[in-house]
Parts: sequence; C-alpha cells; structure tokens
Amino acid sequence: MSRTNIESQLSDFATALVENSGGLIDWHADGSQAIVMVPNDLAKSLGQRHDTFLVKTQPSDEGLSLSLGGEFLDLAGRTLRQFVPSIGIFAMEDISVKKTEFSAIVDASFEWQNARCKVLQRNPMILPYHTWWFHASLQSEENWETIIPVTINARSGVCLPITELMNLDGLKPAKKSLAEVSETLEPVLRFAEAETLRMAAPFIQRIDARRERDRKRLQDYYRALLQESFMPNKRTKMMPTGEEIDSRNKAVKLELHRKLSEMDERYSCNAVLRPIAMAEVQMPSIAIDVEIQRKVQKRIFRIFWNALTRQLEPMLCTRCQGSFRSFWFTNEIVEPVCSSCHNKGQNC
Ligand SMILES: [Zn+2]
Repeated sequence: MSRTNIESQLSDFATALVENSGGLIDWHADGSQAIVMVPNDLAKSLGQRHDTFLVKTQPSDEGLSLSLGGEFLDLAGRTLRQFVPSIGIFAMEDISVKKTEFSAIVDASFEWQNARCKVLQRNPMILPYHTWWFHASLQSEENWETIIPVTINARSGVCLPITELMNLDGLKPAKKSLAEVSETLEPVLRFAEAETLRMAAPFIQRIDARRERDRKRLQDYYRALLQESFMPNKRTKMMPTGEEIDSRNKAVKLELHRKLSEMDERYSCNAVLRPIAMAEVQMPSIAIDVEIQRKVQKRIFRIFWNALTRQLEPMLCTRCQGSFRSFWFTNEIVEPVCSSCHNKGQNC
C-alpha cells in the first residue's frame, strides 16, 4: 500500500521529534512501523509506559499511533515544548557569494515599467530567513488537513519557494536570533492562508459541488410539492380554494427555507491555520542598493541576492504585499506597485 502524503509527513515528523529529543528510531523496511528507544521521561511525555515502544502509521492499541485525528498531536506538542525548542536558530556559513557585477543581473531579473534604475553599492551580509510550519485544516461535511512550510526573508518580508532550508548540509546551531518572531508571523500567515486555499481548492470544489447537488434536489422536491397545492383533494376530489393554495404554498416555502439553511450550516467550512514550529536560518547574502528614478523623484531600494537559489529575490508591492519582479512607480513618493494594483489604480 502506498503511503499518503500526510502519513509520510507524520513519519518524518515523528523521526525528527524522537531524534531531536535524544532518542533512537528504527523504521521497518515497509515504513509502517518503527521501534523507538528513548529516555524514560521522554517516553512518559509521549504517553508510553516503557522506554522502548512501537510507533505505527495505522491506528493501533499498542505503542504510539501517528495520526492527526488521535492524541498524537497533543502528545507531540507537549513533547516539543518540553524537549525540543519549537523555535530553532541555525547558521549557514559555507556558502559562496562571490558575485561582483550585479547591474546586468538586476536588469535581467526586474522590469521597471515607468522608471530608470541605477545599481549602487553592494553589501555582503548575514540575513535571517524564517521557515514556519503551519498545520492547516478545513472542517466541513468532511475534513481536510496538511502541513504547510513557508520561508520568508525576515529583512525584506518576501516569501520564497524554499522548503529545504533545514536539510542543508553545514547547518550549525546559532546563538542569537537576528529577527523577531513577531516580525515575520503576519506576512507568513497571509502567504500560508493563500497557500491553504490553493492546496485545498479540489476539496472546496468537491464540497461546493455536493452542496449544489443537494440544493437542487431540495428545490426540485419542494417545487413538486408546490405543484401539488393546485391539485384536487385526493379523498373529496374537491378543488382547493385560493386561500388553501396560498396557505399550502406558504408552508412549503417556509419548510424549503428551513431545509436550505440547515444544509448551508452542514456544508459551512471552518478553517484553522496553526503555527507549529519556526526555524531561523542565517545565510550569507548580498544586499544590493538600487536607485529608482521616476520623473524627477529618486528613491533607493534594497534587493537581495539569495546565495541558495542563486537569484535575486523579488520585491514587495506596497499595495497588495505580493512579491513581484515587474513594477510601476508612483510619481510623488516613488512607491513600487505591481501591474495588477497599478491597473486597478488606473481604473478608479
Ligand atoms: Zn500589488
């Protein structure tokens, strides 16, 4: 049987949890279960009586079952708080950032729609990147859940499609954090929200389609009932009076309304996005200052060379906070605005 994405993420998570708390974990070749050896207090925190126990990916009475529905997340949360700091700080030292000439790279990476750009000085520096992990869940008539990692440049606020920061070779624990957790949570949450909606789109479509189908069925059923209001009484064969028809119609419509609101309630979707952990990785980088000239006004912006992706990172649109590589600038304060926000502004 092939393992689901959640199963394999949970196995990876359990492995990291045990190993980072000072235990050993040995998975069976088919990945369905593992033998774990941990210190006594850690076993207790994971709800186990012995310091050697089984971890299983399927529900079981024996050992620890990895599932999002059972008590595993609560036990893991307790263990994380007690044994593993949920905020880690690491530094990446051996990464080469030897680029010397950036003008051509800036020109090739960005489009300045209505301004001129001059590349000024470059400053090698150590930059903090924050990777956040969120548990995203949607609860409706059925449930959907996943784990979403998001990495952000804590200086520029740009979210980046880098998920492997924690797997880098040469990562060493660092002593001091270079950016506050509170600085990056909000923009990262916005990104994770959009990412949740993107990933859950098939689930939401399925729920919507089911709701539409049920709504249509209900409406067809009550439409047929409404038509019956005009029919003669089956026993007396008498035609209903206008008053009787009105009162039956009213009752049918009220009942339909009640059923539809019940149905909407059943299909309503409750979404929760919960931060689980955060790691700061300090990476050597190059900050490049560029001078943007819009008509007579000039303003200096800072863009960053990412040594890992070997690319310049995008910049933020000041209106929608999205990251882009193509910008329009406003006349007075030379504010960078993405094409879509620029067009919206034009139409107002
Ligand atoms: Zn925008």
